[in-house]
Amino acid sequence: MPFASEIFARFCNPHNYFFSAGRFPQVMVYTGRGCPYLCTFCVYPQNFYGHNYRHRSAESIAAEFRYIEKNFPDVVEVTIEDDTFTVYKDHVINVCKKLVEQKNRLTWTCNVRADLDEETMRWMKKAGCRLVIVGFESGSNKILKLMKKGVRVEQFRAAENAKKAGLLVHACYMMGNRGETLETMNETLELAKKMNTDTAQFFPLMVYPGTEAYNWAKSEGLITAKSYDEWLTPEGLHNNVVGTHDLSAKDLVDFCNFARREYYLRPAYLMLKLKTIITNPADLRRTVKAFLNFYKYLFSKNSKNNKQKFMEKLDALKIESSKTAEIHSPSVQNKETSQKKVEIGN
Ligand code: SF4
Repeated sequence: MPFASEIFARFCNPHNYFFSAGRFPQVMVYTGRGCPYLCTFCVYPQNFYGHNYRHRSAESIAAEFRYIEKNFPDVVEVTIEDDTFTVYKDHVINVCKKLVEQKNRLTWTCNVRADLDEETMRWMKKAGCRLVIVGFESGSNKILKLMKKGVRVEQFRAAENAKKAGLLVHACYMMGNRGETLETMNETLELAKKMNTDTAQFFPLMVYPGTEAYNWAKSEGLITAKSYDEWLTPEGLHNNVVGTHDLSAKDLVDFCNFARREYYLRPAYLMLKLKTIITNPADLRRTVKAFLNFYKYLFSKNSKNNKQKFMEKLDALKIESSKTAEIHSPSVQNKETSQKKVEIGN
């Protein structure tokens, strides 16, 4: 079977494709199919490739890297687009050893789990890995459990381990899964800010027929579209057609826009970017290109209105929860008890 990159070499020009988290130009490859995890929203294992991860040999993967180096002289990076490349630690380390042996010059990126360990990441770094794409998805354990993510917030070590190993992180977050509320979306945004990864994406849940998430949304009557045409915008982009019991489809889109703005326009993030560019000037080109693709979302009038809308709601939530905390605090309870005693005494 030929490498996918042999087909690209005949029919595609890598200069025509841009992935904002990746270096440019790049080539995307698959080294395996399937994912053993059970995330309810994830279309690939449920509809296409199954839950058993089957991968090519380390030799075959390294050979494809060599092929790309030789046949795409402009290409600087490879994206390994397997659902989860790091399912088997031994396999990943074997691939890395082969790449180190052949003095691989291409940088690469791949999808990893939120709890990936430091040792694997150090091997990946040695073999040319530049960035890992991590599906954190939510900052709320309640939502993670309902989406069957199989990992808890306390186990989210990938960002920390990546920093220790010298890898960049592109973090993925979703809004609108089962059980989602404004409060849980805010937990996600706060966690994202705390982890302060190199890049982060915030998107509403897209439910695909055949997935558990779709069956849930359909049975709860949460899908607003009447026909599949409505699932795309006139420009051909994803159109959100699902809400939750607490949030409309538009609320989810608006919150994602709000989250992007809150995330990217923070001093801590701007400092991180500056540091990345100073230590790695080659990153400037990618950053500028990604920013140009993105700035309309950050500075649109709609985005400013969203900020006001959500800041007010979140402030109201904070006041409400501090009142609840006050009511439940031991001092208030003692005071109430002693008042009751006085009343009874009277
Ligand atoms: S771990 Fe990633 S690829 Fe696997 S089921 Fe979950 S979201 Fe899909």
